[in-house]
Amino acid sequence: MLVLVINSGSSSLKYQVRDVAAGTVLTEGLIEKIGMGNGGGGDGEPVGPRDHAEALEQVDAAIHEELGDQELGAVGHRVVHGGERFAEPVLIDNEITRAIERLNPLAPLHNPANVLGIRAITRKWPKMPQVAVFDTAFHRTLPEHAWRYAVPDELYTNHGIRRYGFHGTSNEYVARRSAALLDLPVEEFDGVIAHLGNGASVTAIRGGRSVDTSMGFTPLEGLVMGTRSGDLDPSILVFLGRAGWTPEDIDTMLNRESGLKGLAGNNDMRSVVEASESGNDKATMALAVASYRLAKYIGGYHVAVGGAKALVFTAGIGENSQQFRAQVADRLGALGIELDAGLNAGRSKEPRVISTPQSAIPVLVVPTDEERAIAEATAAVVSSIR
Ligand code: ADP
Repeated sequence: MLVLVINSGSSSLKYQVRDVAAGTVLTEGLIEKIGMGNGGGGDGEPVGPRDHAEALEQVDAAIHEELGDQELGAVGHRVVHGGERFAEPVLIDNEITRAIERLNPLAPLHNPANVLGIRAITRKWPKMPQVAVFDTAFHRTLPEHAWRYAVPDELYTNHGIRRYGFHGTSNEYVARRSAALLDLPVEEFDGVIAHLGNGASVTAIRGGRSVDTSMGFTPLEGLVMGTRSGDLDPSILVFLGRAGWTPEDIDTMLNRESGLKGLAGNNDMRSVVEASESGNDKATMALAVASYRLAKYIGGYHVAVGGAKALVFTAGIGENSQQFRAQVADRLGALGIELDAGLNAGRSKEPRVISTPQSAIPVLVVPTDEERAIAEATAAVVSSIR
């Protein structure tokens, strides 16, 4: 089945057409600056499509050229927030679209954009099966002691304030591939997965299910990220509020100006590693803060899963930065973890082991592929109803 995978942002639309059985990508692209035109068609910057419907026309034209007379079988949408309701991918109908829309307050930047993408497809191809794949769904198995914040119950009951977790699609896929590499059924996989991209999170997997994860009510909690702070004392925000910072000021500072950018002046891991290697003290300190924070989580999650059988690195930094992986592993000596320098320096698109045979547990690098996971989930939902 050919599946069109859509990742719809407020001003961008990323797409990929996949042949699910063959595991191949037929074509892909990114439409940007949606809704950013001046409408008057004046001179200067070329304007983007007027809205998501117009962006979809561009996608249609682009994929039509590539696909010729092959037909799409379904569309799979990456939807950021599935709240407490969605524990797995679902076939979209009007009621589901409205349910995703009702979750807008929990993901104000993302869910409205996802809904625009869904509605644009519904209008253009009313008969096309569409599936929503939620970034939070994999974490619906968190036990209450892991998802509760120790605040008055009304914050949960009235506002839905709890840990949801993100990067679920990636974690589910990487857990399956890690289990396969270790020759285990996924139901027997206990491990810790560090998804380290611009956004970064770490997840505790027990019996193939998520039992804890570092991102929380929003993707801000947990690790030091490209531009996000991760964990800090919440009183800092109260302090800043009293000092006159507005909620928007605080939001921008924590989400866009913190993390590696705040510590080292650069949000890109490759640049921070290079700066550190050429003697930049701030870059060295930023790497120390980020690797220390991650190592603490890994230690905690080793306990949460009752003894991890593997530590897994994935996403841009996890797959590519041998320096960052080595710094994290160096802090994990107490767990008996030992990297093989040669294997850690190797590069491959395939899942692989990078630890020594003496390491107490294997350390793996398992490339993630969220689009592939979404395409496979979409095809599975559509096949199950046919
Ligand atoms: P996103 O969360 O946007 O999907 P990615 O998974 O693409 O992010 O990860 C982006 C991060 O990966 C950046 O910090 C980038 O510097 C880092 N990265 C990519 N390639 C390398 C590399 N070869 N060495 C070190 N870091 C890398």
